[in-house]
Amino acid sequence: MVSVSKKKNLLGYDLDALNALMAELGGKPFHARQLLKWMHARGVNDFDVMTDLSKALREKLKTHYSISPPRVLERFNSQDGTRKWLLQAGALQAIEMVFIPEGKRGTLCISSQVGCALDCSFCSTGAQGFNRNLNTAEIVSQVWLANHELGAYGDEGLVAVPDEEDVAEDTSAEDPNEEGLATRVTNVVFMGMGEPLANYRQVLPALNILTCDYAYMLSRRRVTVSTSGLVPQLKKLGADSNVALAVSLHAPDDQLRDQLVPINRKHPIKELLEQCWTYLAETSGRSITFEYTLIDGVNDQPSQAKELAALLKGHPAKVNLIPFNPFPGNDFQRSKAKAIRAFRDVLHKHDIRATVRKTRGDDIDAACGQLAGQVSDRVKVRLGSKQFTVVSA
Ligand code: SAH
Ligand code: SF4
Repeated sequence: MVSVSKKKNLLGYDLDALNALMAELGGKPFHARQLLKWMHARGVNDFDVMTDLSKALREKLKTHYSISPPRVLERFNSQDGTRKWLLQAGALQAIEMVFIPEGKRGTLCISSQVGCALDCSFCSTGAQGFNRNLNTAEIVSQVWLANHELGAYGDEGLVAVPDEEDVAEDTSAEDPNEEGLATRVTNVVFMGMGEPLANYRQVLPALNILTCDYAYMLSRRRVTVSTSGLVPQLKKLGADSNVALAVSLHAPDDQLRDQLVPINRKHPIKELLEQCWTYLAETSGRSITFEYTLIDGVNDQPSQAKELAALLKGHPAKVNLIPFNPFPGNDFQRSKAKAIRAFRDVLHKHDIRATVRKTRGDDIDAACGQLAGQVSDRVKVRLGSKQFTVVSA
């Protein structure tokens, strides 16, 4: 029998939720801030260590609440320094998270759902189907756990994040083997398993905790939500949060995008891009990166790069080109290096900023779109058919 704790997991409480809880338990607002610091900035999961909280308050907390990270089921270390963890997410379910050190930047790629219902035709998570949403505690505790695994919690707690010189998801070309590799999570990207905006209610407080000065102290530029284009939730995100945004475009026209990213049938490119431009205009200092996975003969032609440039022209957008990462059971191929360079060059010629994402951790199946975890009792939601016209051999 698996024993399931009925206690609520405080790792999922943001400042507002803890303030409400303190009011209920007879504590003060500063107790909420202390709790956040103990749990996230110091990595503590034992209430008795929190000696600046009264014994009475600690006892109340102990009775009904816990600080419970998930169990690590397996650890994988890539030759390039990338690390992957398989984490338990309930009986027979598991999710994956990946840490990518690049110089002083340490990017943790986290999951927001067990599986994904959106069924993009080039994604291993999509091929798994969907089981359930992760709750806020399960989302945040990935960062908590990674920091522990990296040895980031010293005597004084987490060290400060190094100076801000970069944009969150820009995985640029630093030498991964250089000295002084990141040993704490400095950036978080919601690019693991699941569609974060399909789990909006649980993801929003997680964003609050990641960017909170009492918890992980990550600036809004260091936290990136990646979405395949759920327009209504994107609108809400614009009002509720200020994090960096990555939008998975993958095709310059609706006919192809309907096939690759089936949610496009509901929210086509024009509607999605209009919401993106609104997101940028609402608040200064926001940035959007468009992700474009390059699949051989499907979406990697120079004419398609030209169409993509026309869509983005005049907007402060950047394109991140992701060479397709193969996985078992999928017939797509990665675009040839020459095609990838040519695609990027067309974008540059049209004054669109574009970078090619370096493939990291492919010896441990930790690259983009390869995270499969373990999804049981899946629900397959079929939004699109998988018929493709390959435009070049
Ligand atoms: N659901 C979100 C975030 C998770 S996927 C989204 O779709 O944006 C993170 C990125 O990896 C997305 O841009 C996704 O399209 C891309 N991706 C998925 N499968 C891939 C694969 N096999 N190779 C390369 N990139 C992939
Ligand atoms: Fe889901 Fe994103 Fe994969 Fe599409 S690419 S199936 S939205 S995880």
